[in-house]
Order: sequence, then C-alpha cells, then structure tokens
Amino acid sequence: MQLIDLRSDTVTQPTPEMREAMAKAQVGDDVYGEDPTVNRLQEMAAELLGKEAGLFIPSGTMGNLSAVLAHCGRGDEVILGDKAHIFLYEGGGISALGGVHSRQLINRADGSLLLDDIRAAIRPKDAHAPVTRLIALENTHNRCGGTFFTPEYGRQVGELARERGLATHLDGARIFNAAAALDVPAKEIAAPFDSVTFCLSKGLCAPVGSVLCGSRAFIAKAHRIRKQVGGGMRQAGILAAAGIVALERMTDRLGEDHARARKLAEGLAGVSGLVLDEGTPHTNMIFMNLAESVPYPAAKVAAHMRQAHGVLIGVAGERRFRLVLHYWIDAAAVARTIAAFQALLG
Ligand SMILES: *Cc1c(COP(=O)(O)O)cnc(C)c1O
Repeated sequence: MQLIDLRSDTVTQPTPEMREAMAKAQVGDDVYGEDPTVNRLQEMAAELLGKEAGLFIPSGTMGNLSAVLAHCGRGDEVILGDKAHIFLYEGGGISALGGVHSRQLINRADGSLLLDDIRAAIRPKDAHAPVTRLIALENTHNRCGGTFFTPEYGRQVGELARERGLATHLDGARIFNAAAALDVPAKEIAAPFDSVTFCLSKGLCAPVGSVLCGSRAFIAKAHRIRKQVGGGMRQAGILAAAGIVALERMTDRLGEDHARARKLAEGLAGVSGLVLDEGTPHTNMIFMNLAESVPYPAAKVAAHMRQAHGVLIGVAGERRFRLVLHYWIDAAAVARTIAAFQALLG
C-alpha cells in the first residue's frame, strides 16, 4: 500500500529533477566562499526576497538562531509571539547560546502581534531592564494554523520598529505559502523586515536547507555566527543545487497545495467524528479535533489510520490533528484520505 504522509511538508522527498541537479552540481569549498552553486542559490534567494545578500544555512532553526544572534547581544531582548516557532520549537537556542532574553506577546489568530502590545513591551532606557533590540514575527504562522498576515501589517510593524530604533526579523519558513495565499511577490512580504529566513526543505521539496537574507553587512555578521555554531559547510553545492530547482520550480505551485487542502477540508467536514477549526485551511494546513462522541484519543486514531489505510496524520494534541498538504499529495491521495476518515469516523 502506497503511504500518504500528511504529517508535515518536511516529509517531502526531492524531485527527480532535484536529484539530477544535485548529481551534476559544480562545487567548491563554501567555507572559502568558493562554491559556485551555493553562491548562485544565495544570489537567487536575495533577489527573490528583495534583499542585498543571502546565506545558505543547514536548517531554519540555525537560520533564525544566526539572525537573532546577529541582531542581539547578551542580555538584549527580542519581542516575539507566545506561539512563535523560535520560542516554542528551537530548543531555547537564542537564550542557551546567545544569552538573548525573550519577551513573549500573545499571538493573535492570524499569527500577528497587536501593535499596542508591541509598543507596551518596548523597555524604557533603564539599567534595571533588558535592552529591547528586535521584533521577530512569523509568516505563515505554523502554530496559529498556517495563517498569514498582510504586507500592510508588516509595514506597520516595520515603521514602529524604525521609530523606536529596533531591528526586525521575519521567520518566513513558509513565506512562499504566504505569498501564494496573498497573491503578492514574497519580496513584498519581506520588504519591511531587516532579515528573513525561509525553508527550502518544506513545501519546496529540497532535502536540506534554509536561506537567511538581509543587508550585506548583516549577512557578513550572520556568516560569522553560522561558523561559530558549526554551520559552515564545504561542498554544499550538492545541497544548494536542489535549492535552486526549488526556487525555480516550486514557489509558484504552492497554490495547488492550498486548493487541495481546501478540497480535503471540504471532504473531512462531512465526517461526523471530526470538528474542523473555524476557517481552516488558511494555506496548506488543516487543523481539526475529534468530536466529543469519539471515545478514542487522537494517537489511537492516527495509529489506526496508518495501519488500516496507510494514511499518516499529525497528532497535535490529546484530541487534535494537523494535516499538511504538499507536492507529493495528489487528488487521488486526497480522495483516499477522505474515504479512510469516513470509514473510521463517519
Ligand atoms: C520548520 C520551521 C522552522 C525551521 O525548522 P527546521 O526544521 O530547523 O528547518 C522555523 N520556523 C517555522 C515557522 C517552521 O515551521
């Protein structure tokens, strides 16, 4: 039985075209800055996001870490959301490795932060207080349901930051999903932010890597930090080659995943044992709970879906699921998933 893996878009395998590009990639020692394929990927990424420079980084976590450490010194404070990936899912790296203090504000439903909350969180110049240095946002927002905020909101945050002398960072792991949902170029979403990270290894299907983009001076600083945390790679063009294919072929097709997510959600809405979140899906993720009538926990349902139907789903809580659409989920897989849920919980 062919497995249908809806746990995440990180499960995406590289396409045959990526594997071919990887095999043929021209490479050099990237620690010396001599890998032509890495250099090309970095230039392409910077261009796409409207920034001066880019830096290829092994993971999104290391990209965010390098960015926060490039913006902040020890004892400085970053303002971020209480559901931010940086806050919840990156091992506390910014404080463990950078001594950066985090000030968490409540994320609104769309993943944004209330401007008044940000204003109120900026510390006074006072020796008792940490120094507020950075505002970090996330778009699309993972824990908020794959939601997105508008470029206009980003501009308002950027303006506030400039008025108060703060830097801004965008965790744009899925910025191209936000761009597809908003129908704007990614660079418009990125424009208000001093730095942006995005992942090549999620919906874009590359096997490894993220790119951090920003000004030339900022990237020079982040480059040093990437080395400090052990992220300097050698013939990394093998990996960057897949990233180039990702940028050339994958960014413009993400709307298909969003449309399939809507199709899947429509089907699942007819399953009596499931209660979909209001408004889901916003992009490529569906969040839903088990109805009260279902006597089993989510983990048990997920195990049965896997064993009986070959459908892998994400367990996001005691009675909660996350389903993520991506390149390798076609219309037939959507239909099979609906039928499987129908058979189990219909
Ligand atoms: C996946 C993700 C990251 C980075 O994750 P890695 O697994 O380290 O590449 C960062 N932010 C968000 C919102 C993510 O979803």
